[in-house]
Amino acid sequence: MRAIIIGAGIAGLAAALRLSQIGWDTLVIERAPQRRSGGYAVTFGGIGYDAAERMGILPDLQKKSFITEELVYHKPNGERRFSLTRETIAATTGPRSMTILRGDLETVLYERVRDHAEIRFGTSITAVDQDAHAVHVGLSDGTVEQADLLIGADGLHSATRALVFGPERDHLLDLEHKVAVYMLDKRPDAIAPGTTGTLSAGGRTVAVISVGDGRNVAFFGYRSGHARPGEGAATELHRIYGDLGWVVPEALAGLERAGSVYFDTVSQVVAPTWHRGRVVLLGDAAWCVTLFAGYGSSLAVGGADRLGAELDAHPGDIGAALTAWEKALRPEAERKQRLGRRVKGVYAPANPLLLWLTQLPLRLAALPAVRRYMIRRFIKG
Ligand SMILES: Cc1cc2nc3c(=O)[nH]c(=O)nc-3n(C[C@H](O)[C@H](O)[C@H](O)COP(=O)(O)OP(=O)(O)OC[C@H]3O[C@@H](n4cnc5c(N)ncnc54)[C@H](O)[C@@H]3O)c2cc1C
Repeated sequence: MRAIIIGAGIAGLAAALRLSQIGWDTLVIERAPQRRSGGYAVTFGGIGYDAAERMGILPDLQKKSFITEELVYHKPNGERRFSLTRETIAATTGPRSMTILRGDLETVLYERVRDHAEIRFGTSITAVDQDAHAVHVGLSDGTVEQADLLIGADGLHSATRALVFGPERDHLLDLEHKVAVYMLDKRPDAIAPGTTGTLSAGGRTVAVISVGDGRNVAFFGYRSGHARPGEGAATELHRIYGDLGWVVPEALAGLERAGSVYFDTVSQVVAPTWHRGRVVLLGDAAWCVTLFAGYGSSLAVGGADRLGAELDAHPGDIGAALTAWEKALRPEAERKQRLGRRVKGVYAPANPLLLWLTQLPLRLAALPAVRRYMIRRFIKG
């Protein structure tokens, strides 16, 4: 059996690994000319964590994961508001969870799969045609590949989805925020190694994450009302955040030296079905739950693992395998989408009172008595 996988992100590489584990041949098509690195920090837990354990990659992921020593919330002038300790953060995420850079998660998958899959960089999907026996996939390098299954793991703006399921405008739900993330080549002095500093003011959030191994991430998330159509990342961020002090000027200056920037709207993908014939969507291409849910990478790996399990359980019957897979996965993906939509309302609030209220649970968690209770209850059991 052979699958063509569009996208060498977390979902695509996890699918290639899982399918190779059940004896499938895979061809992975990636638009980028080479592997991406770094990215942003993701919390990886839930079904992704369980799947990673089954797929045998958990020890490698744990080696690349990092622990945030302290999460400090600042006032716009840079003064500390309150902070969460390493133990409190661990208590809120639970024991079967880790924090890892998206690029490191991809690297672990890539290292495992590179000898078992053909990976073609600098190539995109251009056409899809399918019949009862096979799916034929046209590629930008002029070739046409044939397979039993096509997996569209090409992210939020999936070309596979546009070709097979209809235009993007029919599938995206705008959550009215924008996000920009990039690696900083220098840690601002005010951010201690291994800590994260964040501040939220006037519908804008900014955070600097020190991974602790010399790498640092700058994160900006803001309400779309601040954005102007067509404005590039540098102009937009300087205009929106230019009045803030603390580490913000240093973080903004780092943008000019950053290798790449993730800069996009925060949008969910709402698709009534994730499979059609021999074509299936996986990861953000199918259900993008957004950073507000903090669960997209977990769903991508968990979804890939379950896809492999269903294909293995339904040999020779792709339709039955995809139907069973979607039935199993959809409730959790939709639950996380609902969570993402709820968070949208309280993320980076413009109103100071709402900001105070949304930070209240975190402020409470920072209190020593509550912290001791959480550690007893969630870590020590
Ligand atoms: C700021 C931020 C914070 C996040 N935090 C968390 C978190 O804490 N926890 C969590 O679990 N998730 C988090 N997420 C979500 C998570 O990162 C994504 O859900 C996950 O990376 C999705 O992986 P994917 O492989 O489906 O898509 P992508 O990562 O978008 O990968 C798609 C791949 O397909 C390639 N591609 C695109 N188009 C084509 C084409 N036409 N042809 C060929 N290749 C193509 C792209 O180059 C890319 O390599 C966060 C996301 C953001 C933006």
